[in-house]
Amino acid sequence: MLNLVRIHHAKDPTCISQLTELRKHIPTLYVLLSVNSCALAVTHYPLAPVLLTLGFPGVLVTVCVLRAVRWWRMRVDEMSQDQAAIQLRRTTALTAVFSVAFVSWAMILNGYGGPYEQGHVAIFVAITVIACIFCLTHLPVAAFLVTGIVMGVFLFCCITSQNHVFLAIAVNTAFVTVVMMRVLANNFRAFVQLVASQAEADRLSDENARLAHTDSLTELPNRRYFFQKLGELIQASAGNDARFALAIFDLDRFKPVNDTYGHVVGDRVLAVIGPRLAAFANENVTVSRLGGDEFGILVRNPGPPEEIIAFCDAICAALAKPIRFGNIQVVTGCSGGLAKYPRAGRDADALFDRADYALYHSKEHRRGKTILFSQEHEDAIRAEQIVETALRTADLSAEMTLYYQPILDTDTGKIALVEGLARWTSPQLGRVSPDRFIAAAERCGLIHDMTLLLLRKALADGTRLPPGIGLSFNLSAQDLTSPDTVLAILAAVRASGFDPHRLTLELTETALMRDFDQAKAAIRMLRALGIAVALDDFGTGYSSLGYVHSLPLDKIKIDRSFMAGIDTDLGCSLVSTILDLCRNLGLEGIAEGIETAEQQDAARRQGCRYMQGYFIAKPMPFEDLLRKLTPVEAADRLQA
Ligand code: C2E
Ligand code: CA
Ligand code: CA
Repeated sequence: MLNLVRIHHAKDPTCISQLTELRKHIPTLYVLLSVNSCALAVTHYPLAPVLLTLGFPGVLVTVCVLRAVRWWRMRVDEMSQDQAAIQLRRTTALTAVFSVAFVSWAMILNGYGGPYEQGHVAIFVAITVIACIFCLTHLPVAAFLVTGIVMGVFLFCCITSQNHVFLAIAVNTAFVTVVMMRVLANNFRAFVQLVASQAEADRLSDENARLAHTDSLTELPNRRYFFQKLGELIQASAGNDARFALAIFDLDRFKPVNDTYGHVVGDRVLAVIGPRLAAFANENVTVSRLGGDEFGILVRNPGPPEEIIAFCDAICAALAKPIRFGNIQVVTGCSGGLAKYPRAGRDADALFDRADYALYHSKEHRRGKTILFSQEHEDAIRAEQIVETALRTADLSAEMTLYYQPILDTDTGKIALVEGLARWTSPQLGRVSPDRFIAAAERCGLIHDMTLLLLRKALADGTRLPPGIGLSFNLSAQDLTSPDTVLAILAAVRASGFDPHRLTLELTETALMRDFDQAKAAIRMLRALGIAVALDDFGTGYSSLGYVHSLPLDKIKIDRSFMAGIDTDLGCSLVSTILDLCRNLGLEGIAEGIETAEQQDAARRQGCRYMQGYFIAKPMPFEDLLRKLTPVEAADRLQA
């Protein structure tokens, strides 16, 4: 019962639903009241004073009509729960006032006229109460008030009138209204339950939607949410070109963290980083975890480039702060790529790819910072696409050749091995540098075929090399992570007849970082066949010394960038540190990029035995190499 006669509070979730239902019936109720009152006034017009038959009902009907119009124009869907609760309280109070007014008027009129007119008053009271109960079903407290007030006054008057017919009518009507109140109470309870279960269903469906859009590890919105919001932003911006920016962030050293400490620590790192990124979210900034160690943000009204870049750099810095778990301290850097709508693109894929492209560049050139996708990048993409298109239609076996660059053993003064370097002369583009076409082949999925084609060529050439000279060959990052390619490489080596012990395969750190476990397994398979494995371009990536230690390598090629400064104290000590590392790990160190006699001497003084570079010999076609290369005095002739 308490539930039925409660005072409505702002937090009451049924208020809006009650008001919605009431709005459908209350205008009708006012119309009904007006019609009934007019009818009663008409029958009493010749008998009662004008004040009672015209004045009073006139006021009542006017108020009723005004209230009906007000209800009719009410916009419940625009109301807050607070406003709805106030409206319900006001309606309840007004109901009491109206009840008193109507019943008092009817009872006063009852004193005029004969039995017919009195009968009309009784009918007026009875049907009006019943109509009120029906129309106020969704506001039981008001229905109870009407019934209580009207029936109370009516019964009182009938009892005091001593007229047993009226008394019977009053008792009869009271009985009917009591029964109707019971029905109303039951219906209202069912209504409240329905509203509650609807609210619960809505809550569950909201929760489902939230879970479907949340990444459970970081509690951040997930990739699906990100792309949904991106789609909405693009749609909203299409007509008016409102600006927004999309940025992607990627942790720089997350993989080594996972590999070194395991996935549990990796997950904990992400769980710490999640709230750090969430701290940057506001009504203009949407943050999300895109997957793995990649995060994305969308920024509405990003402002001038310096501002949004500074904002993204602040995110990089926040995500990169060291994380401590017990005695483990994890430091993962973070780099970002940024693309602005509509300059960088007008659809989701284009924008995302542009931001990703900028991210790739920040990883390469400005680690720890954010790079904004620019016109230069757009031009580079176009150039890359041209290479890709030419590569797709190229006759690889006819257009690709290998040049060879010797690697000198300074202990013996002889050529220890030659490195095969791919060359492509495209009929449309002319000579394309290997850096460009290898990257293009990786992007368009041609690298597997290209590696095998070049390897077969190199192995065929290798069989013609003087005995004692080895062959070194470069693998791309993707080759190592594809078990099919690794098996095909092993098969090609076996089929060539070239002694695997004379073969070195060069891998870059990117290849190892991509999938450390797979890379390790692949290296083991290659070495099991007798193939030596070299880590190429050492020092340019993010290999930590401990990382190299955990890989089954044979050689390390010190990147040529170190040779440029080898005559300075710092450069010299860097090279000597790397060579010490090689010695400690039992690896051969090879200095790349020796361009001058001074560099060769400096490297030699640091104890470097193997050297490669323009000073020793430039890459050359195989026939030239063979001509220059004789088993005796090879190095002397090369340098001549
Ligand atoms: P890399 O493996 O580090 O190859 C050495 C690069 O340095 C070669 O460039 C070589 O010509 C150049 N070089 C050698 N000595 C010197 C020197 O003294 N000074 C300077 N400035 N440069 C020197 P190239 O032939 O343009 O190759 C570039 C890169 O392309 C290679 O770097 C390698 O990563 C990749 N690459 C070349 N051939 C292949 C291949 O067959 N397969 C794969 N996957 N990658 C290849
Ligand atoms: Ca190489
Ligand atoms: Ca190299």
